[in-house]
Amino acid sequence: MSTAATSFPERNAAEVADLVLASDATSPDVCARRMRQRRQMYVGQVASYSLGASVLLLYAFDGAVSTNVPTLFWFGGLLIIGTFTVLSEAGVGDRFADHYLTVFQISAHMALQFVFLVSVPTLGIAFLAVLFLIFAFGTLRMTSRQAMVTWGLATCGLAFVFLGSDLPIGLPVASRIERAASMLCFALVIGQCAFLGLFGATLRKILYQRSNELKAAYRRIEELAELDELTGSYNRRCIMRLPDAEIEKSRRTGSPCAIALIDLDWFKRINDAFGHPVGDEVLRTFALTIFANIRPEDRFGRYGGEEFLLLLPGATSEAASRMLDRLRRIVAELDWSAFSPAMSVTISAGVVTLRDVDTADTFLARADSALYSAKAQGRNRIATG
Ligand code: GH3
Ligand code: MG
Ligand code: MG
Repeated sequence: MSTAATSFPERNAAEVADLVLASDATSPDVCARRMRQRRQMYVGQVASYSLGASVLLLYAFDGAVSTNVPTLFWFGGLLIIGTFTVLSEAGVGDRFADHYLTVFQISAHMALQFVFLVSVPTLGIAFLAVLFLIFAFGTLRMTSRQAMVTWGLATCGLAFVFLGSDLPIGLPVASRIERAASMLCFALVIGQCAFLGLFGATLRKILYQRSNELKAAYRRIEELAELDELTGSYNRRCIMRLPDAEIEKSRRTGSPCAIALIDLDWFKRINDAFGHPVGDEVLRTFALTIFANIRPEDRFGRYGGEEFLLLLPGATSEAASRMLDRLRRIVAELDWSAFSPAMSVTISAGVVTLRDVDTADTFLARADSALYSAKAQGRNRIATG
């Protein structure tokens, strides 16, 4: 026999996930989708009760029970489903966190099984088997508290039937038809339990995918929050955090650390001569050039306007100066004629290595003053400090 469990047709990922992702959103869209899901579930329940009633009909055909039993079982199931359908269509479920009203559904279907268990104890085992199906359905949605409540109710019912009465609970197996009906009863319950289990596994898989997608989106948001929109280098907020971390690391490991403040020379003139959009493109090209010529462990960010900070972990004073001079030459020798035949771009930089007394502020201030010297000495050069 089979019964109260639901049957779920294929759904798309969003719909399935909505079954378990308790969304607070009660927009008309969400409500409509939930109502559609509930309707599908009620159709499944009707099919399940119909299967159960058909098995009972077999017993009745063999004379094991009256024909009233399958009829009443079917109508009893339909009465419960009908009641919950009316509540569902009226939108009552949408007012609760669990819009399926799972505990109420389970209690009602369970009560029906107990009524038949007491009224037709000779088929009792068949009705007891249905309890497994009802709980398999419930595990898809119940919280642990709800599970305890419904399990408590089921245990009270079982105690009443087994301990509080002498009912001869059994399952008819006297004739071929009865044996076939009893076999069908278990086969159908097991089949529906397996189906519900598969459905639960699908939900878990979708939730797992969703959680991975969310993690990836979160990582992307974090990345974007750290990057400068124009140049793709770290933004000021992010780059200003890095010296502290580098200083701490350098002191811990005893390795040197250098920073460079890089500023584009006469950049205002580039803007004035070629326009702000071209200036933007120059900044972007400059940043790409730097990215292409630094080590993976180096950190490059926009300090402000046309001024950039480059962190060179592990670099000695000589190595850092060499590296900055190489970058200076690369920028100066770059073919900027794509922007305009007359264009040339140069940079100046102030390079400093960490001293014992330095804080992040003094470290940056020294780099700034070295940059000032480079500018004062005529630009397109590197100054150390
Ligand atoms: P110096 O060699 O002394 O650094 O001269 P400079 O012209 O580069 O310096 P100044 O500080 O006078 O001008 C910097 C210019 O950079 C002014 C500002 O309009 C321009 N600038 C800052 N941010 C951007 C930007 O995002 N896009 C463009 N196109 N220009 C920018
Ligand atoms: Mg400048
Ligand atoms: Mg500047």
